[in-house]
Amino acid sequence: MLPEEIAEALDLPPFRGKQLFQWLQKKQVLTLEHMTDLPASMRATHSPAVPVCALEMVKQELSEQSGAVKALFSLADGEMIESVLLRHGARATFCLSSQAGCPLGCAFCATGMTGFRRNLSPAEIVEQALRLHHAAALPPDTTPNIVYMGMGEPFCNYEAVIKSIHILMHPAGMHIGARKITVSTVGDVPGILRFAEEPWQVRLSISLHAATDTLRDQLTPLNKRYPLAALHDALQTYQQKRRRQITIEYTLLNEVNDAPANAADLASYLRGLDAVVNLIPWNPAPELPFAPPSARRVTAFAQALQAAGVKATVRKERGGDINAACGQLRAANR
Ligand code: SAH
Ligand code: SF4
Repeated sequence: MLPEEIAEALDLPPFRGKQLFQWLQKKQVLTLEHMTDLPASMRATHSPAVPVCALEMVKQELSEQSGAVKALFSLADGEMIESVLLRHGARATFCLSSQAGCPLGCAFCATGMTGFRRNLSPAEIVEQALRLHHAAALPPDTTPNIVYMGMGEPFCNYEAVIKSIHILMHPAGMHIGARKITVSTVGDVPGILRFAEEPWQVRLSISLHAATDTLRDQLTPLNKRYPLAALHDALQTYQQKRRRQITIEYTLLNEVNDAPANAADLASYLRGLDAVVNLIPWNPAPELPFAPPSARRVTAFAQALQAAGVKATVRKERGGDINAACGQLRAANR
């Protein structure tokens, strides 16, 4: 909840709403008794109604390799979600879930395989960030990057995701700059068009994985509803409105979408868009019938893109040893 909503819900004056919001969102203090500048009477009176503790951390794993932290949370109704904190030197990125499970069933994604459970509330989304901040004992003034790349499709839970972004950006809270926040979608065209109207510079990332409809239909079923041409139009509209570079996520699957011809298709698809491609060698999920490409195939693909004038980087895997890499989130305790 935003400060004014907290005040209203608890029937408090506005400054108390702001105080509570600051404790929760800025200082990541989640227990009322530790909010020392609130009067003792209020700490007792309002405790059951305080809008925290939507999540309980059930398990926390640390990657020796990279310092990544993966957290498994249980929600009030027993559903489970995962979130990840990735480190790069002094900087941190929080990878948040927007849904428990995912309804879109991409062929290569562990989250998609588990099916859809339900949408998360704004509180359940934001609290992942608060608890990761706390768990990793980051200095209070660390401003993390936020990526909506955990479980779920953010644009299938549009309002809650937008509300959670407002809370994360609020000056009295974590105060995360719009440019440090990225929403990733597998190509929900109405969501992209709505997002283009939001008055901010939050970044957009598109999970593409294939640049022909035949192949993309097989990998991401949503493509049958919003084929590549419709997606391209939506992205052009987005860029006319927002004037921001987009990131194209392309998961490389050995001998499925990683040949030089696929790179050529991708380069021609991206004509007319201001985009940078992020190549992600597939992270194994044992029960899925794919394999990661060899390092040589990855390099060849990246070079083919670059030769065609497309900017491309290869994502370094972080957190693979604790199954915290992209597409490996699945609430493993279920
Ligand atoms: N549903 C949104 C947000 C999740 S982001 C989306 O798909 O964009 C998760 C990212 O990891 C997506 O780019 C997804 O395609 C990718 N991904 C999924 N499974 C993967 C796997 N096993 N290995 C590597 N990348 C994967
Ligand atoms: Fe859902 Fe994204 Fe996984 Fe596809 S890749 S199943 S959209 S989480």
